Amino acid sequence: MKNILPSPLQYKNNTLYFAGIRLDTIARNKRTPFYLYSKKTLRHYYEYFSKSAAKNGIVSPLVCYALKANSNKDVLSTLKTMGSGADVVSVGELKKALKAGIDPQKIVFSGVAKTEDEIRFALKCGKKGIYSFNVESIEELDMINSIAKKLKTRARVAFRLNPRVNAKTHKHISTGNKTHKFGLLKEDILEAMDVAALWTNTNLVGLSIHIGSQLTELNATIKAIEELSKLALKLETPLEFLDVGGGLGIDYTAEERSKLASIDTYMKAVSDAFEKYYYSKTDHCPRIVFEPGRIIVGKMGVLVSRVVRTKISDSNHFTIIDAGMNDLIRPALYEAYHEVLPAQTSKQMIKTDIVGPICETSDCFGTGRKLPKLNAGDLVVIDNVGAYGQTMASTYNERQIATEYFI
Ligand SMILES: *Cc1c(COP(=O)(O)O)cnc(C)c1O
Repeated sequence: MKNILPSPLQYKNNTLYFAGIRLDTIARNKRTPFYLYSKKTLRHYYEYFSKSAAKNGIVSPLVCYALKANSNKDVLSTLKTMGSGADVVSVGELKKALKAGIDPQKIVFSGVAKTEDEIRFALKCGKKGIYSFNVESIEELDMINSIAKKLKTRARVAFRLNPRVNAKTHKHISTGNKTHKFGLLKEDILEAMDVAALWTNTNLVGLSIHIGSQLTELNATIKAIEELSKLALKLETPLEFLDVGGGLGIDYTAEERSKLASIDTYMKAVSDAFEKYYYSKTDHCPRIVFEPGRIIVGKMGVLVSRVVRTKISDSNHFTIIDAGMNDLIRPALYEAYHEVLPAQTSKQMIKTDIVGPICETSDCFGTGRKLPKLNAGDLVVIDNVGAYGQTMASTYNERQIATEYFI
């Protein structure tokens, strides 16, 4: 099976091009480091994802793009135009989604710490408030109910089930195990349903899961859908939707490229699992909601940086670049691998550690990487940073936030 996910990068005659334009031309007169995104690649992934859902028989799919992956306003307006909804985890993200023109009735609100102010805002936006509060505790449900009561309205809510599965991914981005803070255990949801009359101002409209991020295989996802389906069948209320969350991974490394589940494989697996565990056992026909983040935006962007200098210390060779962990924290935070590519290739390669300017040893983008011998001012790109790049940036060491450009 072909798993190669298209990228805007390409070498022609040893020179790096981004979206068909020479990188050195793009970088001329721009302060480095900067984020560079391809609109064509962004559109490709959203379109591929939503078409694949339809092609694989997913029931009335609703794609709620997870803003936390990349909340750039051009990303949001592009996705909005293509019909996307939004998955938000704060009122800040909710406001950005609304500003991009995304219909509140296509917005789901996740997160364990929704505050009173956030809940009030979400209940009051648009004509009918948001599509769903994906509730992560009974305490939260109590709060939503009492605020809805005060506002003389009804809140649309979904329980986020903690399906007790172990998603095979980095421990910091796994979210569906019973020791994690996310979601509600099945027995707690069933107990709450026994006294559902207490929540006079909420309507239970769905169930959701989200088991983790950068998932490369589907066993845990299928198991979680089985758990979600069993619970949905047990509840006597008819539901409007079942939400499978996000999490589908992208190929950061050659190894991932060979074993990664493709979008089509994922959709087929989700579709088959719901058919087997849910639709074949009931007359109800709730729609399926997706909350993809990384798979939509991950491949569209690079971080463009210039070499400040090189340094040799004992047997170590360092290539010091002007991008740091404040611009892209994934390597430091998750030991994430990102390819570092030179603007000009050469036959003569050396082994070098690519490090940034921040005063932390973890400010390192790669050790023992094969790169040409670079000089001060030479351009490099850090690849596959469209997701969880700029949105996780900080001003640590009093550095500026890197500008984002679209081609
Ligand atoms: C982060 C998150 C997502 C998106 O995850 P990806 O791995 O980027 O697809 C979706 N839903 C929830 C609740 C999240 O927290």
